[in-house]
Amino acid sequence: MNQDRIYPSESAHSPYLCPPEMQNEDLFKKVVSHCKEYGFVFPSSEIYDGLAAVYDYGQNGVELRNNLRQYWWKSMTQLHTNILGLDAAIFMHPKTWKASGHVDGFSDPMIDNKDSKKRYRADVLLEEHQEKLRAKADKEVEKARARFGDSFDEAMYRQTNPRVVEYLNAIDHIDQTLKTGLESGNLDIIRDLILELGIVCPVSGSKNWTDVRQFNLMYSTQMSAVESGEDSLYLRPETAQGIFVNFLNVQKTGRAKIPFGIAQTGKAFRNEIVARQFIMRMKEFEQMEMQFFCKPGTELEWYAYWKQARLKWHLALGTNPAAYRYHDHVKLAHYANAAVDIEFEFPFGFKEVEGIHSRTDFDLNRHEEFSGKKLRYFDSETNESYVPYVVETSIGLDRMFLLTLCNAYTEEQVDNEVRTVLKLHPALAPVKAAILPLAKKDGLPEIAEKIYNDLRFDFNLYIEDKDSIGKRYRRMDAIGTPFCITVDYDSAANEDVTLRYRDTMEQKRVKIAELRDMLQSETSMASLLRGLV
Ligand code: ATP
Repeated sequence: MNQDRIYPSESAHSPYLCPPEMQNEDLFKKVVSHCKEYGFVFPSSEIYDGLAAVYDYGQNGVELRNNLRQYWWKSMTQLHTNILGLDAAIFMHPKTWKASGHVDGFSDPMIDNKDSKKRYRADVLLEEHQEKLRAKADKEVEKARARFGDSFDEAMYRQTNPRVVEYLNAIDHIDQTLKTGLESGNLDIIRDLILELGIVCPVSGSKNWTDVRQFNLMYSTQMSAVESGEDSLYLRPETAQGIFVNFLNVQKTGRAKIPFGIAQTGKAFRNEIVARQFIMRMKEFEQMEMQFFCKPGTELEWYAYWKQARLKWHLALGTNPAAYRYHDHVKLAHYANAAVDIEFEFPFGFKEVEGIHSRTDFDLNRHEEFSGKKLRYFDSETNESYVPYVVETSIGLDRMFLLTLCNAYTEEQVDNEVRTVLKLHPALAPVKAAILPLAKKDGLPEIAEKIYNDLRFDFNLYIEDKDSIGKRYRRMDAIGTPFCITVDYDSAANEDVTLRYRDTMEQKRVKIAELRDMLQSETSMASLLRGLV
């Protein structure tokens, strides 16, 4: 991993970047403890020792999360005249999940190590093994490049060098065998492969593996007080199906013409067995999904449009483009004709944060079949009726939250001490400005209070007169507050204050009467959204 690419000390693109010297694991640990210390994220029901892979958002976390959600929501519904909103219930008719394929197919192949009693996703163990083989192949290539210099032909070397070919063939063999095992349902094939490759449990170091079993990720509960088996309900594992079943309701009442989209944000639940990496993979999380309905045959054009539009949304926050990459799916789900992940370089490597999928007419067809109701669009211009094709954009709000914090967390050496600052985009910052009277007397708190009362209808503000001004600045830096407004002994006579910028720590005098306009132009969601059009 090239760390310089993710955290350059200077970038033409963004002031919101982390320093190059911070080690990756260190950065992640620091972000996790910072989240706890500054009221962003707490373990769920912590006084009972927490609940694995479930988290609560604290006073600053909830504001940041709301701002991220609002940024997504407005970019979809406010900036596109043809995207309409929806808020479907978490519970849906059980047939929904039969139709969508989740009852039969939404599972992961799991394997247990008998010595450590740890459970793993069998496909992930194999993918990690493939990564090791890929690294070995790359090492051979790099050695050869150093040996041959300018005349080195990498493509040729990869095709002909026996050792590299052996590694690449082994990677292919794993892909093929895993596919055969999953498609045929014969999971012994996957277990045999794990044994054949000599994969050991990272905890016990042993190869004492159980059989591989499929484990459905959906949580179920009962509709009524009496358990009958017939009325079991599922907590939705994705928000998308609420959009599909409401497709005609929204289209007709909104008089929407194809192409148009339906956007929704909301909780989803997955029984993730291998929950790792903090809020990256949770059992209860939030998705922000948009299904774009279009005419069959035009879907790949829309897919290309949304692929670039979604990356633009991410980059408008000022993140270094080198920290993002597309990962095109080579193996497509049976219903998709194109799919890509937008990946971000987290401190633990590149990981998916958003998926864009061209899902054809699969979902609407299945719901037609299972409900017996027509889900067709009538085109009044051509007098034809058809099942639209769908391009989906699906992003996890919690993963986006983690991405934002990893990207914003910065430590700087200032006057022999370390200043921790969250360089959040101002429109995302939980608190837009702190109003800080220099002293608790001589009328300064009263002026501060007047400014606060005047501006609180427009902005989320913080007011505090405790501790030294330096300590108060540091606390605001740590939660990413872009501006500190200091009321001092000149404020009464001159009707002005000192304005301190979070990132540069630069200070200047500003008239109290100008504060509203200044904060508006610097911190509003509108200025962020303007970057998208
Ligand atoms: P992964 O491969 O990481 O399990 P996925 O491909 O199953 O993700 P999708 O079903 O495409 O994910 O869901 C869309 C988005 O929802 C993901 O890109 C991710 O941001 C988010 N997401 C999915 N599962 C979780 C989870 N358990 N916790 C937090 N966010 C999640």
